Amino acid sequence: MCGIVGAIAQREVAPILLEGLKRLEYRGYDSAGLVVLNESAELERIRTTGKVVQLANAYDRQPVIGKTGIAHTRWATHGKPSESNAHPHICRNKVAVVHNGIIENHQTLREQQSKLGFTFTSDTDTEVVVHQVCHQLDQGDNLLQAVQHTCQDLEGAYALGVVSATEPDRLIAARRGSPLVIGVGIGEYFIASYVAGLLPVTQPFVFVEDCDIADLTRVGMLI
Ligand code: GLU
Repeated sequence: MCGIVGAIAQREVAPILLEGLKRLEYRGYDSAGLVVLNESAELERIRTTGKVVQLANAYDRQPVIGKTGIAHTRWATHGKPSESNAHPHICRNKVAVVHNGIIENHQTLREQQSKLGFTFTSDTDTEVVVHQVCHQLDQGDNLLQAVQHTCQDLEGAYALGVVSATEPDRLIAARRGSPLVIGVGIGEYFIASYVAGLLPVTQPFVFVEDCDIADLTRVGMLI
């Protein structure tokens, strides 16, 4: 279990996400990645194996610009350390998810989702989360409802950050058995698995209770 950082902000978030990941490096990890929603509400992702500095170098070569995003350092539990297994995971260019923890019923969900036509691009347990959220959106849920329903289907431990091109001004965070904290700013919110990931960015902090889901927009927070 390693690190999550996320932001829905008034400013470019990629530098904040990278700085947050660096501050969580002490926890150990094998790969890193981030996604932002750009001006056109498209998901733009970069992922690398190795250190956060390599992700930062990739960002320098190909900056991703946006005011909402999520980032992750991965400690592989399912699937080897590789770029394709690194988070965020994306479904149909629509939904992106970062996850700390282990989804125990990933095999069952994977079989159900394969039958529904979802294709898998990683060997992780996490990828079922992003497909399940996408499936729920297809059923007519909004993003918050989609994450609520998805969490009901998950067995295991998770801290999640979820963004969607369908609702670019929203960041959903959820936790069960894995830590998650929210940093409160002025017209902006941040998430991280540990306070250390947000220290230079904002305070105060709200500690998300186990099994809670947080709905974050620039105008407020609902838990
Ligand atoms: N179980 C997930 C994976 O293997 C997440 C691991 C983590 O917490 O970093 O990708």
